[in-house]
Amino acid sequence: MGILRKFKYKLPRVVLNQCYLSYVRPLMEYGGALFANEDDKDLKLLDNIQMEALHIVSGAKKKTSHDLLKKEVNWPDLSLRRTFQQVTFLHKVIHNKYPTYLYKSLPPMRDHSNRTERKYKFNTPLFDHAFYRDSIIPSSISKWNELPNHIRTIQKLDTFKLMLKREYVEPPKPLYHYGDRYSQMSHTRIRVKFSNLNFHLFNYNLVPSPNCPNCNLPETPNHYFFICNKFTAERIKMLHEIERILRSNNINNKITLDLVLHGTEKLSHTLNIKLLEAVHSFIRTTGRNP
Ligand SMILES: [Zn+2]
Repeated sequence: MGILRKFKYKLPRVVLNQCYLSYVRPLMEYGGALFANEDDKDLKLLDNIQMEALHIVSGAKKKTSHDLLKKEVNWPDLSLRRTFQQVTFLHKVIHNKYPTYLYKSLPPMRDHSNRTERKYKFNTPLFDHAFYRDSIIPSSISKWNELPNHIRTIQKLDTFKLMLKREYVEPPKPLYHYGDRYSQMSHTRIRVKFSNLNFHLFNYNLVPSPNCPNCNLPETPNHYFFICNKFTAERIKMLHEIERILRSNNINNKITLDLVLHGTEKLSHTLNIKLLEAVHSFIRTTGRNP
């Protein structure tokens, strides 16, 4: 984490993202299936580290809404990943990847009249102490039983893991990684609604007025990208370039704030990057440091 903190303004987001996912998160997940039911207080300490990494990688300001940040970066919660570890452990036990005494320690399968429902669903083990309930086999079984039937019955481990991700995790948005650090961070801050635009600063009680000092209208993202008199020349250049990209691909979309902030699914990844370049060039040349 020290390295991430040190280089947060220097390294591109894609590198910071990979550093966290490859070097930091695995340390917090070692043996995750075993401690998935530890005290919330202790697990919160790990969540706090992931939250700090979310801020560093995205370049968002402190106190940015956690929900918006999670949508921006799309890392699954650590608790969800621990659940994945638990059900993967059970999958390995059921399919003989671990010694058979573990399989023998599982309770009997449930006897449902519906045959498909019955597949690989277990009776919940009886317990008279929370300590046993929270230990790895009973707690993995209760998570396992909650999986949808089409996932629980997958035999191949790789397919099982892949389907878990598809079912529960939003795909990452590689487009948001693109760009030099300054432009990418400014763009992200507007998306997560805490940038240096007065409208956002005012919402966080950091300035006395939400208005643009130039036009005396609320300095919203829409004002900055499409209205503010101060940036007319830069805007014409950006809109011209975006229009050219859309027209050459026979797309009749209006140029909206949503398009400028998120790109569009109608364009390929490469063309979305071209669109983003036009927006980043606007952000850099206006010098507004949003
Ligand atoms: Zn203005």
